[in-house]
Amino acid sequence: MVNAIVGANWGDEGKGKITDMMAKEADIIVRFQGGANAGHTIVNDYGKFALHTLPSGVFYGHTTSVIGNGVALNIPVLFREIQSIVDRGVPKPKILVSDRAQMVMSYHILFDQYEEERLGGKSFGSTKSGIAPFYSDKYAKIGFQVSELFDEEALKEKTERICETKNVLLEHLYHKPLLKPEDLMAELMEYKEMVAPYVCDVSAYLWDAVKAGKDILLEGQLGSLKDPDHGIYPMVTSSSTLAAYGAIGAGIPPYEIQKIITVCKAYSSAVGAGAFVSEIFGEEADELRRRGGDGGEYGATTGRPRRMGWFDLVASKYGCRIQGTTDVAFTVLDVLGYLDEIPVCTGYRIDGEVTTEFPTTAKLEKAEPVLEVLPGWKCDIRGIRRYEDLPENCRNYVEFIEERLGFPITMVSNGPGRDDIIYRNGK
Ligand code: GDP
Repeated sequence: MVNAIVGANWGDEGKGKITDMMAKEADIIVRFQGGANAGHTIVNDYGKFALHTLPSGVFYGHTTSVIGNGVALNIPVLFREIQSIVDRGVPKPKILVSDRAQMVMSYHILFDQYEEERLGGKSFGSTKSGIAPFYSDKYAKIGFQVSELFDEEALKEKTERICETKNVLLEHLYHKPLLKPEDLMAELMEYKEMVAPYVCDVSAYLWDAVKAGKDILLEGQLGSLKDPDHGIYPMVTSSSTLAAYGAIGAGIPPYEIQKIITVCKAYSSAVGAGAFVSEIFGEEADELRRRGGDGGEYGATTGRPRRMGWFDLVASKYGCRIQGTTDVAFTVLDVLGYLDEIPVCTGYRIDGEVTTEFPTTAKLEKAEPVLEVLPGWKCDIRGIRRYEDLPENCRNYVEFIEERLGFPITMVSNGPGRDDIIYRNGK
């Protein structure tokens, strides 16, 4: 059985926590897109971890962690991450890397920095992990696939070709030092040595696993609104964040994905630039940021303060629809316990008209939030394990949102730990 865990919004919804929790019952956890540009924060028996590349199932001895072909594979980051968890007492995880995954090269990271410098104030707010240059090269067919590491002659010829094109930009657009084929070759040979023991024909491996009835989780990075097709283009990421892409980025038949668990946070947060209709500012935002997540809403990769907002039903309903949601995991509900009243963004006013449909980017820039205010529950709900035991106003908040979303909230997360979860039976 294959299940996908994906985000409904701008990322940071708590996918890592839900994956870590569900991995207890899973055999294989697959990352199918994205790279080391975003992070998942996980709190478990070993401590608190920020993962960037490893799937969030690495903390169990029984799981296999797979880097699928759709990932932007930064080999040094992957190996540093493995070492860092092993150093903290986690058993060495079983890792497989797709022979069709492509590698982030050091020049991708440089080009990302150079382009952000060049754009100045008009930049996309990139984390400068090389992701956009990496995916551009992949689709321009000048990327390096892991399988290519094993043919040195072909690789030599290709490094020369790549230096030719890259050096035109380095010289004339960015005025930066040029690349040398021998340096690229040395970098690739270093990657080969590191990755060789883990290389696998992942789609064949997963095909057999599906046939053998194994439990497989596909773990998404970021969320619906960062998808290059369906998100807030151009303020998006460079690979698809949707569950449907899980089939491609892992190499499994699309009809095998049975559950699409879309993670939705009880309030909103976003990083980077782009329209964010329900955004709040000043002291109101600072307080939510301070109390948010587990120890504040700051980027797991960059440490940047996240932009904060009230729950956005328009964006979340769209985010759930475009994922093909079967189940919603509603997270970080405990954080809202301090509020007397909780505003929820139930519509967008655009050119004087109210809509509940998420618009394309140009219209989104003009949207103003329509807010409805629900009563708060004014207590700490951490530790509660049964839905019926939640305060009435808290249940009303969940049910109000569920009704407007149009997708069943089957799990409510009320703390960062593995056990902080309330299953809603019969949903
Ligand atoms: P991801 O990228 O979707 O995995 O999200 P992040 O890990 O970046 O952000 C989620 C943050 O919220 C992390 O710090 C989690 O530990 C924390 N978190 C997840 N679920 C809950 C919850 O139900 N309550 C609280 N208080 N924190 C949570």
